[in-house]
Amino acid sequence: MPVIPSAPSEIDKVRPHDVADAIACRNDRPVTGVPADLPRPQVVVWFLVALIVIHTVALGALLPYAFVWWGVPLVLLGNFIFGSLGINLGFHRMLTHKAVAFPRMLERLWVLCGVCCLEGSPLWWACVHRIHHQHSDARADPHSPKESFFWGHMQWIYIADPRQHSLATYAKYVPDLANDPFLRWLHRRHTWAVVYAAHAVLIAAIGFGIGALVTDTTAAAVRFGTQVFVWGVLVRTVYVWHVTWLVNSAAHRWGYRNYDTADRSRNNVVVALLTNGEGWHNNHHATPRACSQGHRWWEIDLTFTAVRLMQLIGLARDVIPVQAVTRAAAMGTRNEPER
Ligand SMILES: [Zn+2]
Ligand SMILES: [Zn+2]
Repeated sequence: MPVIPSAPSEIDKVRPHDVADAIACRNDRPVTGVPADLPRPQVVVWFLVALIVIHTVALGALLPYAFVWWGVPLVLLGNFIFGSLGINLGFHRMLTHKAVAFPRMLERLWVLCGVCCLEGSPLWWACVHRIHHQHSDARADPHSPKESFFWGHMQWIYIADPRQHSLATYAKYVPDLANDPFLRWLHRRHTWAVVYAAHAVLIAAIGFGIGALVTDTTAAAVRFGTQVFVWGVLVRTVYVWHVTWLVNSAAHRWGYRNYDTADRSRNNVVVALLTNGEGWHNNHHATPRACSQGHRWWEIDLTFTAVRLMQLIGLARDVIPVQAVTRAAAMGTRNEPER
């Protein structure tokens, strides 16, 4: 997901209230101070430029100097560590839906892994996602692909949405999370982007260090370090972006449905495989609080497998089970009728 300008640094002013409604994505209290109707779409130019630059530089991985076959498993490993444990588990299931809890240090580790995906501050990410659950595929959904696949996939990211920068929106949707000093620190002054840059430098340094140990010349060490950086940071970042975005786009258009939810969510096998479990999106919309997103035996959810393993050794607790979902309950997962 996206890099979007933070909300005002007065994020500290958000006080917890209506927490239960916010977590359940059923808060009907209107957001004040935000225009009822969205203004004409405005492109956030600097962000569009950053997206194009990062995609272009990542394509440099295909040049003979940077191309290596071990780059592919490196990307997949990075996708699991940063994408699955950081975004799926940390940002999505743990922060946004409170589907599982961890000891404080581990909780922060998952959040930091998510920050290393350059998908915005965890507060902003959770806020946008709770809006999505409350208004899935209705007009107020920030990224429904109903009108166009491209809008739901990545266009919405670089089009300004004043709701996402209003303190009132944060107060309404993430009052519980905005009370956490660590999350506020990451949110203020784009600290999350600084953390991302620091992790990129660290991975590059590790790459050059290993290069110095396993090669004979300085030129070879520099080349090895560059390859680690290009595949382990740039290509992995772009890969995790697109598989995350596919949940918003493809998994709201193509696939099958286990539940007759009021939105257009689908279980998409390809997206589920690419994201290690997030593609069972119709299951997720039917039971957003449940930690597991695979509801049939063959709906593999490796992110949840990691949770189960951590639960077995006593690290994960308060794992919310999949409850029996009636059609009425599933229909109730969104408050606003589709328009
Ligand atoms: Zn969705
Ligand atoms: Zn969700």
